[in-house]
Amino acid sequence: MRRARRPPDLHRVGVANAKYNEPMLAAERPYVGRFAPSPTGPLHAGSLVAALASRLDALAHGGRWLLRIEDLDAPREMPGAARAIVETLARLGFRNDAEIVFQSRRHDAYRQAFDRLVAGGHVYPCGCTRREITDSMSSRSRTFAGAEKPYPGTCRHGMPPGRSARSWRVRVGPTPLHWVDRRAGPRVDRLDEQVGDFVLRRADGQWAYQLAVVVDDDAQGVSDIVRGADLLDSTARQLHLRLLLGMPAPRHLHVPVLVGPDGSKLSKQTGAPPIDASRPIDALDAALQALGLGRIGREPLDRWWSLATDRWAQAEAPCSETARSIRDEPRALHEPTDQPKCAAGVPDQADPPPPKEAGSSPPDASAPPRGTENPNSTRPGSSASTKTEPRCARTN
Ligand SMILES: [Zn+2]
Repeated sequence: MRRARRPPDLHRVGVANAKYNEPMLAAERPYVGRFAPSPTGPLHAGSLVAALASRLDALAHGGRWLLRIEDLDAPREMPGAARAIVETLARLGFRNDAEIVFQSRRHDAYRQAFDRLVAGGHVYPCGCTRREITDSMSSRSRTFAGAEKPYPGTCRHGMPPGRSARSWRVRVGPTPLHWVDRRAGPRVDRLDEQVGDFVLRRADGQWAYQLAVVVDDDAQGVSDIVRGADLLDSTARQLHLRLLLGMPAPRHLHVPVLVGPDGSKLSKQTGAPPIDASRPIDALDAALQALGLGRIGREPLDRWWSLATDRWAQAEAPCSETARSIRDEPRALHEPTDQPKCAAGVPDQADPPPPKEAGSSPPDASAPPRGTENPNSTRPGSSASTKTEPRCARTN
């Protein structure tokens, strides 16, 4: 098989110290995937796409799939939403392969990880208000797609006199952080330019999402993170924490996010309607179509899942091969060009699998589903989720 040469350091995850420059892709380990919704409202079409992708990828790999409720942010939680999400998923045929983990019960684990980071000198107290950080940034351009502005490092070497800690931040370095998304391709992030030293804990004791996710994924043995492309920008921060905590890196696959009529991500906050679990095939087919795999149509639920898994496996197999190869032969894979990464025997714009049932798939099933444009796709890689559903990751 033809293998392209690429720059020597592309597979390395590098940050500020020598340890960071060790290759840190996980060694061979069993596939464990997960879906981790926040119970801020019932399951909606957007979150179902991410849930379906993660479950299909786990099934296609013969792996396990876990469910985690990210209920750390009590004020934003909607009473009853966690139970509603769990019940909806069950009615749609999702089967979690272990007990559900609730983040609200895992403060001790976050505390232990936080203490390790403090002991390693990676964390410092910050007395800045949000307003002060915003003001100090007024002359610097925003370089990150997220809403967060880079922290200018005011308290890095000690808080100004008279201040008390409002939050605790983890240090980031200037070394580019390299990682690979199975769909978006190779990524390079500069945390110092994009977010700066970021918050791990607020003064009120609230743990940051980034810390909780990393601690939980590691504790649950998650090998493969499959989630919405809106979280592409969180990945570098999570990899940074994993490096500091000595955790192996998972593989990543970010799938398109659904957007509403105004172009913003479909979410509970923007009033996305809940999934109608009384019509599971309709809901599942809509999510499958959003993933570029067409519709399956009226089938018994078990058979729907079986057929959907086949489609996913067929569509993602070359990418899975790539993921394995990245791990085993990290130097031989990425061409620094616009070539599709999964070119071996796979057409660039693969046709979707034929509909299994006459009339169950519209003739234009290969067209990009409406509403999958990522509004934040201003950076290379992000755009991979916007075009006609690519079967394989592209370098750009
Ligand atoms: Zn500060």
